[in-house]
Amino acid sequence: MSKHTPMMKQYLQIKEQYTDAFLFFRLGDFYEMFFEDALNASSILEITLTSRDAGSKDRIPMCGIPYHSATGYIETLIQKGHKVAICEQMEDPKSVKGIVKREVVKVITPGTLTEGKTIDVEANHFIGAIDSLGNHRFALAYLDVGTGEGKVELIEGTERSVLAEIESLRMKEIVVDHQMHVALHEMFESRSIMLSIEDTDCPETIGRETYEHLPNELQEACRKLHSYLMRMQKMVFGHIRPFVYIEKGAKLSIDANSMRNLELVQTIRSGKKEGTLFWVLDETITAMGARKLKMWIHQPLAQRQAIEDRLETVSNLVDEFFLREELAEELNDVYDLERLAGRISMGSASARDLAQLRNSLTHIPKLKKVLNESKRPMLQRFADQMDPCEETYRLLTEAIAENPPLSSKEGGLIKDGYNEKLDQLRDASRNGKNWLAQLEQKERQATGIKTLKIGYNRIFGYFIEITKSNIHLADLTRYERKQTLANAERYITTELKEKEELILNAEADGQSLESELFLEIREQVKKDVQRIQQLASVISELDVLRAFAEVSEKNHYVRPEFHDGRALDIKNGRHPVVEKMMNHSLYIPNSCTLAADSNMLLITGPNMSGKSTYMRQVALTVVMAQIGCFVPCEKAVLPITDQIFTRIGAADDVASGQSTFMMEMMESQYALMHATSRSLLLFDEIGRGTSTYDGMALAQAMMEHIHDQIEANTLFSTHYHELTKLEDVLARLVNVHVAAKEQHGKVVFLHKVLPGAADRSYGIHVAELAGLPSGLVERAKKLLHRFEQDSVASESTHVSEQLALFDTFNEPKISTEQQKLLDEIQATDVLNMTPMQAMQKLVDWKERVATQMKG
Ligand code: ADP
Repeated sequence: MSKHTPMMKQYLQIKEQYTDAFLFFRLGDFYEMFFEDALNASSILEITLTSRDAGSKDRIPMCGIPYHSATGYIETLIQKGHKVAICEQMEDPKSVKGIVKREVVKVITPGTLTEGKTIDVEANHFIGAIDSLGNHRFALAYLDVGTGEGKVELIEGTERSVLAEIESLRMKEIVVDHQMHVALHEMFESRSIMLSIEDTDCPETIGRETYEHLPNELQEACRKLHSYLMRMQKMVFGHIRPFVYIEKGAKLSIDANSMRNLELVQTIRSGKKEGTLFWVLDETITAMGARKLKMWIHQPLAQRQAIEDRLETVSNLVDEFFLREELAEELNDVYDLERLAGRISMGSASARDLAQLRNSLTHIPKLKKVLNESKRPMLQRFADQMDPCEETYRLLTEAIAENPPLSSKEGGLIKDGYNEKLDQLRDASRNGKNWLAQLEQKERQATGIKTLKIGYNRIFGYFIEITKSNIHLADLTRYERKQTLANAERYITTELKEKEELILNAEADGQSLESELFLEIREQVKKDVQRIQQLASVISELDVLRAFAEVSEKNHYVRPEFHDGRALDIKNGRHPVVEKMMNHSLYIPNSCTLAADSNMLLITGPNMSGKSTYMRQVALTVVMAQIGCFVPCEKAVLPITDQIFTRIGAADDVASGQSTFMMEMMESQYALMHATSRSLLLFDEIGRGTSTYDGMALAQAMMEHIHDQIEANTLFSTHYHELTKLEDVLARLVNVHVAAKEQHGKVVFLHKVLPGAADRSYGIHVAELAGLPSGLVERAKKLLHRFEQDSVASESTHVSEQLALFDTFNEPKISTEQQKLLDEIQATDVLNMTPMQAMQKLVDWKERVATQMKG
C-alpha cells in the first residue's frame, strides 16, 4: 500500500470496509471507481474503462460517472443485485491543503432503494430480516423503507417455508446473522435474493418504539432490520411505523408458487399486470391504493369478522353510486401520502412534495363530509378516522408556493407574506429590476438607440448591450466596455454596477433564506409524519374498497356468504380474468360444490376444454372473497380457507429444465406438508412430468393421502383416465368432466362442467378429426381396447390393489421402444401443430416403426 499515492491510500482504507459494495468515490464532479470495481462496473454500466497513475508501478483501472447523473447508474447496479456505497468529500477542497476528508454517507442496497425509474410505486418494496428461534421456528420481519410500513410473522417449518414467504412478497434483500448466512446462502443465491449480514450489536434502543409491543421472540428480527438500516443509511428513520404482527391464522396464506400459478399479481409468461387478478380489480385511484390492493391480494384475510367488515363497506359503496363518484373526484387529487411521508422523514422531500401534501390535505374535509352525509355507519367510520392534519395544512398553505420548482436552490419555494425578511429581500430585488427597466428606457432616450438593452449573464453580471452598427450614437465616455460579441458590445456604468450588487445580494440572500425556511418547515411537518401515515392508511383502504365496489358493479359480482363449516358452494361461477379478456357474454359459467361428504373433485376432459380455467376460477373466487371483494358468480357460500396450494403440471411450466419434475414433486411435498382440512388444493395434471405409470401411481397415492390424512377441499385434474375409478374407493371423491362434442367434423369445446368422468376415447377421436392416418388411428383404438380389457380384468375395489392394476399394462407383447412410441403419440398435441410439423412427426414415427419391425 505504501507505494500508492495518499489519495489511493485513502481510497483503499475506505474500500476495505465496503468489500461487498461498489465504492463510488467522489473526486470533484465525478464518482470514480478503481480496481475490480472499475472493471466490473464498466462492463455492467457500459462506460469507458480508463486507468490512472496512482504511484504504483502499474497503472490502475478506473472508471467514473458525473455525480449529477449518478442516480441512473446506481439504480442499474442495484437492479442487478449489487450494493453501492456513496463516499463523499466532507470538506470543501478549496479550503484544505492536501487530502480532502472523505466518508461513506450511505450504502444503497436492493432492499433499501426507494426512489427511481425502476421503482414500481404500485408495489411495496420490502427488506426482510430472519431470526432463527430454533425448533423449526423463525421470526420474519419486513419493512418498506419508502412507506415505513413494517410487518412481522412467526413461521413454523423449514428454511424453505421462510423462503416461500419471502418469495411471495418478492423481497430482494434479507438481513441475517452469520450463522443463518451459512445455512441459507446457496438457497437464496440461486433465487437472486441478496443475503446481508448484520452481526453488529446495535444499541437496544434503536427503533424500539416500533417493536416493543411485540412478543419477545419477534423483537430481535425487527431490531436487526433497524440496526442494518442505520448502518447502511447512517441515519435513524422517524417514519418506520410499529411492526404489525401477522398472527397465524389471521391471513389466508398463498405460497410463492401458487401466487405465480394463479397469476394473482403478474402473469406467468410475461410477468405483466394485464391478465392478472390485480389487473381486473385495480380500479384504485391513488398509488397508495394500488399498493394496498396488491398487499391485500398477497395476504387475504382469514378472520370472518374482518372480512365481513370489508364486504359491508363494499356493499354500502355499491349501493351509493353518487357517493362513489364524489369520492373518486376527491381522491383524484390526493397524492401518494405514504411515500411523501417517507420522504419528509428521510429529509429528501422537495418543496414540490410539500405542495403535493398540502394539495392532498385540501381534499380531506370534503372527503369526510361526503362520507358523513351517507348516514351509513361503516362509511362514517372512515370519516371519523380521517385526520385532516390541520396545523400542517395551515402551515403549508401559508408557507409553500403554489407551484414550487423541483430544485430547492433557485428560490420560488416560499409564498409572499410568510416571512417579513424574505419579503423585504424580494422587494429589493424586484425594485431593482424595475429600476433596470427604467434605466434601459433612459439610456435609449439618451442615445436614441431603440435596440439598446440591458441584459444579464453569470460571468459579467448586468450590462448594457449596443449593436455594433449603433455604437457611433453612444457617448462612450460614460461606458466601460466589458465584453465584445460578433455584432455587439457590452458595457457597464458605475450606477449599474452599484445597483447590480444590491439586486444580486438581495436575490442570493433571499434564496438562502428560502432554503433555510424550507428546511424549518420540513422539520415542522416531520412532527406530523405519523398522523400523515395514519391518514394515508385510511384513505388507501377506502380507495381499495371503492375500487371493489366499482368492479363488482361493473362485472356483476355478488357478495359472498361465509359460514363456519368447510363446505364450498359456488353457483354459476366465472373466471374473472378470462371473462374480462374474452367478453363477459361468451364465458360459460360453471358451478362448484364441495360438500362435507364430497370435497374432492376429479376433473377429466380433453386438452383445452377448460379444466384449469375451472380450477383457477374456484381459487380466485376464494381469494377475492377473502380480500373483501364481491365474487364472479350468482351465489357463493364459502368456508374460511386458511391456505391455498396449487400444483400445475410440468408441461404447462415456463421454467422448463431437467429438474422440472423434481420441482413439481417438491411443490407437492410442500403442499402436502402444510395443508390442513381448511385448505384449498389445486392439483392440475399431477405426475405429467414422468412416465405414465410413474405419474399415475404418484397421482393416485397423493389423492389417497389427501383423502385420508388431510381432508382438504381439493380439485384434481388429470388426463389419466384410469384414476376416475378411484371414485368407487375414495368416499369423498367425485368425478366431473368438462364436456366437448363433435360438430361438422370439428371438436367443439363446451366448457361446461358436468357430472361423471369424460369419454375416454376422446383423445383418439380428436386425433382422427385432426387427420392422423387411419391405420394409426385404428391401431390406437385397438391398443386402447386392450388396455381397457386389461383393466377390467384386474378391476378391483380395494385401494391398495389399484396400483397393481397399472402393472398389468406392462405386458411383454409391447417392447419398451414401442411403448415409448405410443406414449409419444398419445402425448402429441395435434391441435397445436402446423400441418408441416404433423407430417414430420408421421415420417419420424413411420421410420421408427420400420426399424422396430426389422429389429
Ligand atoms: P385445459 O386445462 O382443459 O387444457 P384451459 O382451462 O386451459 O383448458 O382452457 C382452454 C381455453 O378455453 C381457455 O384459454 C379459455 O379461452 C377457454 N375457456 C375455458 N373455460 C371457459 C369457459 N368456462 N367459458 C369460455 N371459455 C373457456
